[in-house]
Amino acid sequence: MQYCTECVYPAVSFAPLLFDEDGVCSGCRVRKQAEHVDWDERKRLLGEVLNEYKTDGSNYDCIIPVSGGKDSYFQTHVITSVFGLKPLLVTYHGNNFLECGQRNLERMRDVFDVDHHIFSPSVQLLKKINRLGFKKMGDMNWHNHCGIFTYPVQAAVKFKVPLIIWGEHGYTDLGGMHSIKDSVEMTARYRLEHACRGFDWHDMIDEEEGITEKDLLWAKYPTDDELGDLGIRGVYISNYMDWDGYKNYVLSRDLYDWQEHPEPFERTYRSFSNMDDMHENGIHDYLKYVKVGYGRATDHACKDIRWGRMTREEGIEMVRKYDHVKPRKDLERWLTYVDMSEEEFDTICDTFRDRRVWRKQNGSWVKDNIWDESIQCSTSTKVPKEPASIPTT
Ligand SMILES: [Zn+2]
Repeated sequence: MQYCTECVYPAVSFAPLLFDEDGVCSGCRVRKQAEHVDWDERKRLLGEVLNEYKTDGSNYDCIIPVSGGKDSYFQTHVITSVFGLKPLLVTYHGNNFLECGQRNLERMRDVFDVDHHIFSPSVQLLKKINRLGFKKMGDMNWHNHCGIFTYPVQAAVKFKVPLIIWGEHGYTDLGGMHSIKDSVEMTARYRLEHACRGFDWHDMIDEEEGITEKDLLWAKYPTDDELGDLGIRGVYISNYMDWDGYKNYVLSRDLYDWQEHPEPFERTYRSFSNMDDMHENGIHDYLKYVKVGYGRATDHACKDIRWGRMTREEGIEMVRKYDHVKPRKDLERWLTYVDMSEEEFDTICDTFRDRRVWRKQNGSWVKDNIWDESIQCSTSTKVPKEPASIPTT
């Protein structure tokens, strides 16, 4: 397995990655590119975009999709405090918020003096769709990814608010999917192919689970005509402000009393990410490890290495400590939630293992690890080399 020579990403990754001739991944290169962007000029450009959509008082100026996390607070801070706009906050609520996540979410309308529209599907449906998503694609949180990228766009159509302010372009932040120079905007294609893993609402109609079209109304992306008639546009704020999740955390905490998770998570050292779903840092992330051999500790370490908050060696230690952990407490809760045995869970997990990463050895699944690099190097030096010159008789 090839690993980035600067951060800790492996070549087989959910975030599309490219390596250059020095073995540096596109995520690291795009981060370096961001250091040379004129961010004051970008901020001015954001002001121009926002002015274009500012209403005379007849409607909200924009919609901000929020989960109540540190990034949601940052987006809302920029739109309200820096630019003085009146947004409508919109949340897809998947029923499994952590307590502190729920607290942070509920405070937003008070702290920012804004209206907040929260949508939650039926709990019975959510349990069914957790189970189905897990069996179909190894991702119980499909409904979350779909809801987060669909419901706010439905709300934009419903409330006739054409501008949607998203946070960061996730795969650009993680893996450098696009150049910052491209200033890409949100597309239906990104929603379907990346956020929804290629599965749309109609793929989740299921007789065995009893899921019908009427259960999935919230998961239907608006039509091209609906989007076109209103001129709906989804802008990533990360194209206009130098995006750093850690700085967003500090700002939210210091200015708005935003609270991080009071206890450490089982699978990563960061305690201020993904509090809108208790399984996101737990069993959902463990499934990523089962599939492609790394988890959120790798994602977090890459970000911290790129910002100079951690050395690569320290990052490797975090990967070694956290990526393989099977989160017992979190798994038990999820198995009860969806009524499944651990045996069934493990059996289904194994069907999703990527064979470019995993191989069976003496009955166990094994893979290459980033900390094996030095061992492999020292081994290879012991391999006898070919003679410098071959006798020609
Ligand atoms: Zn890298």
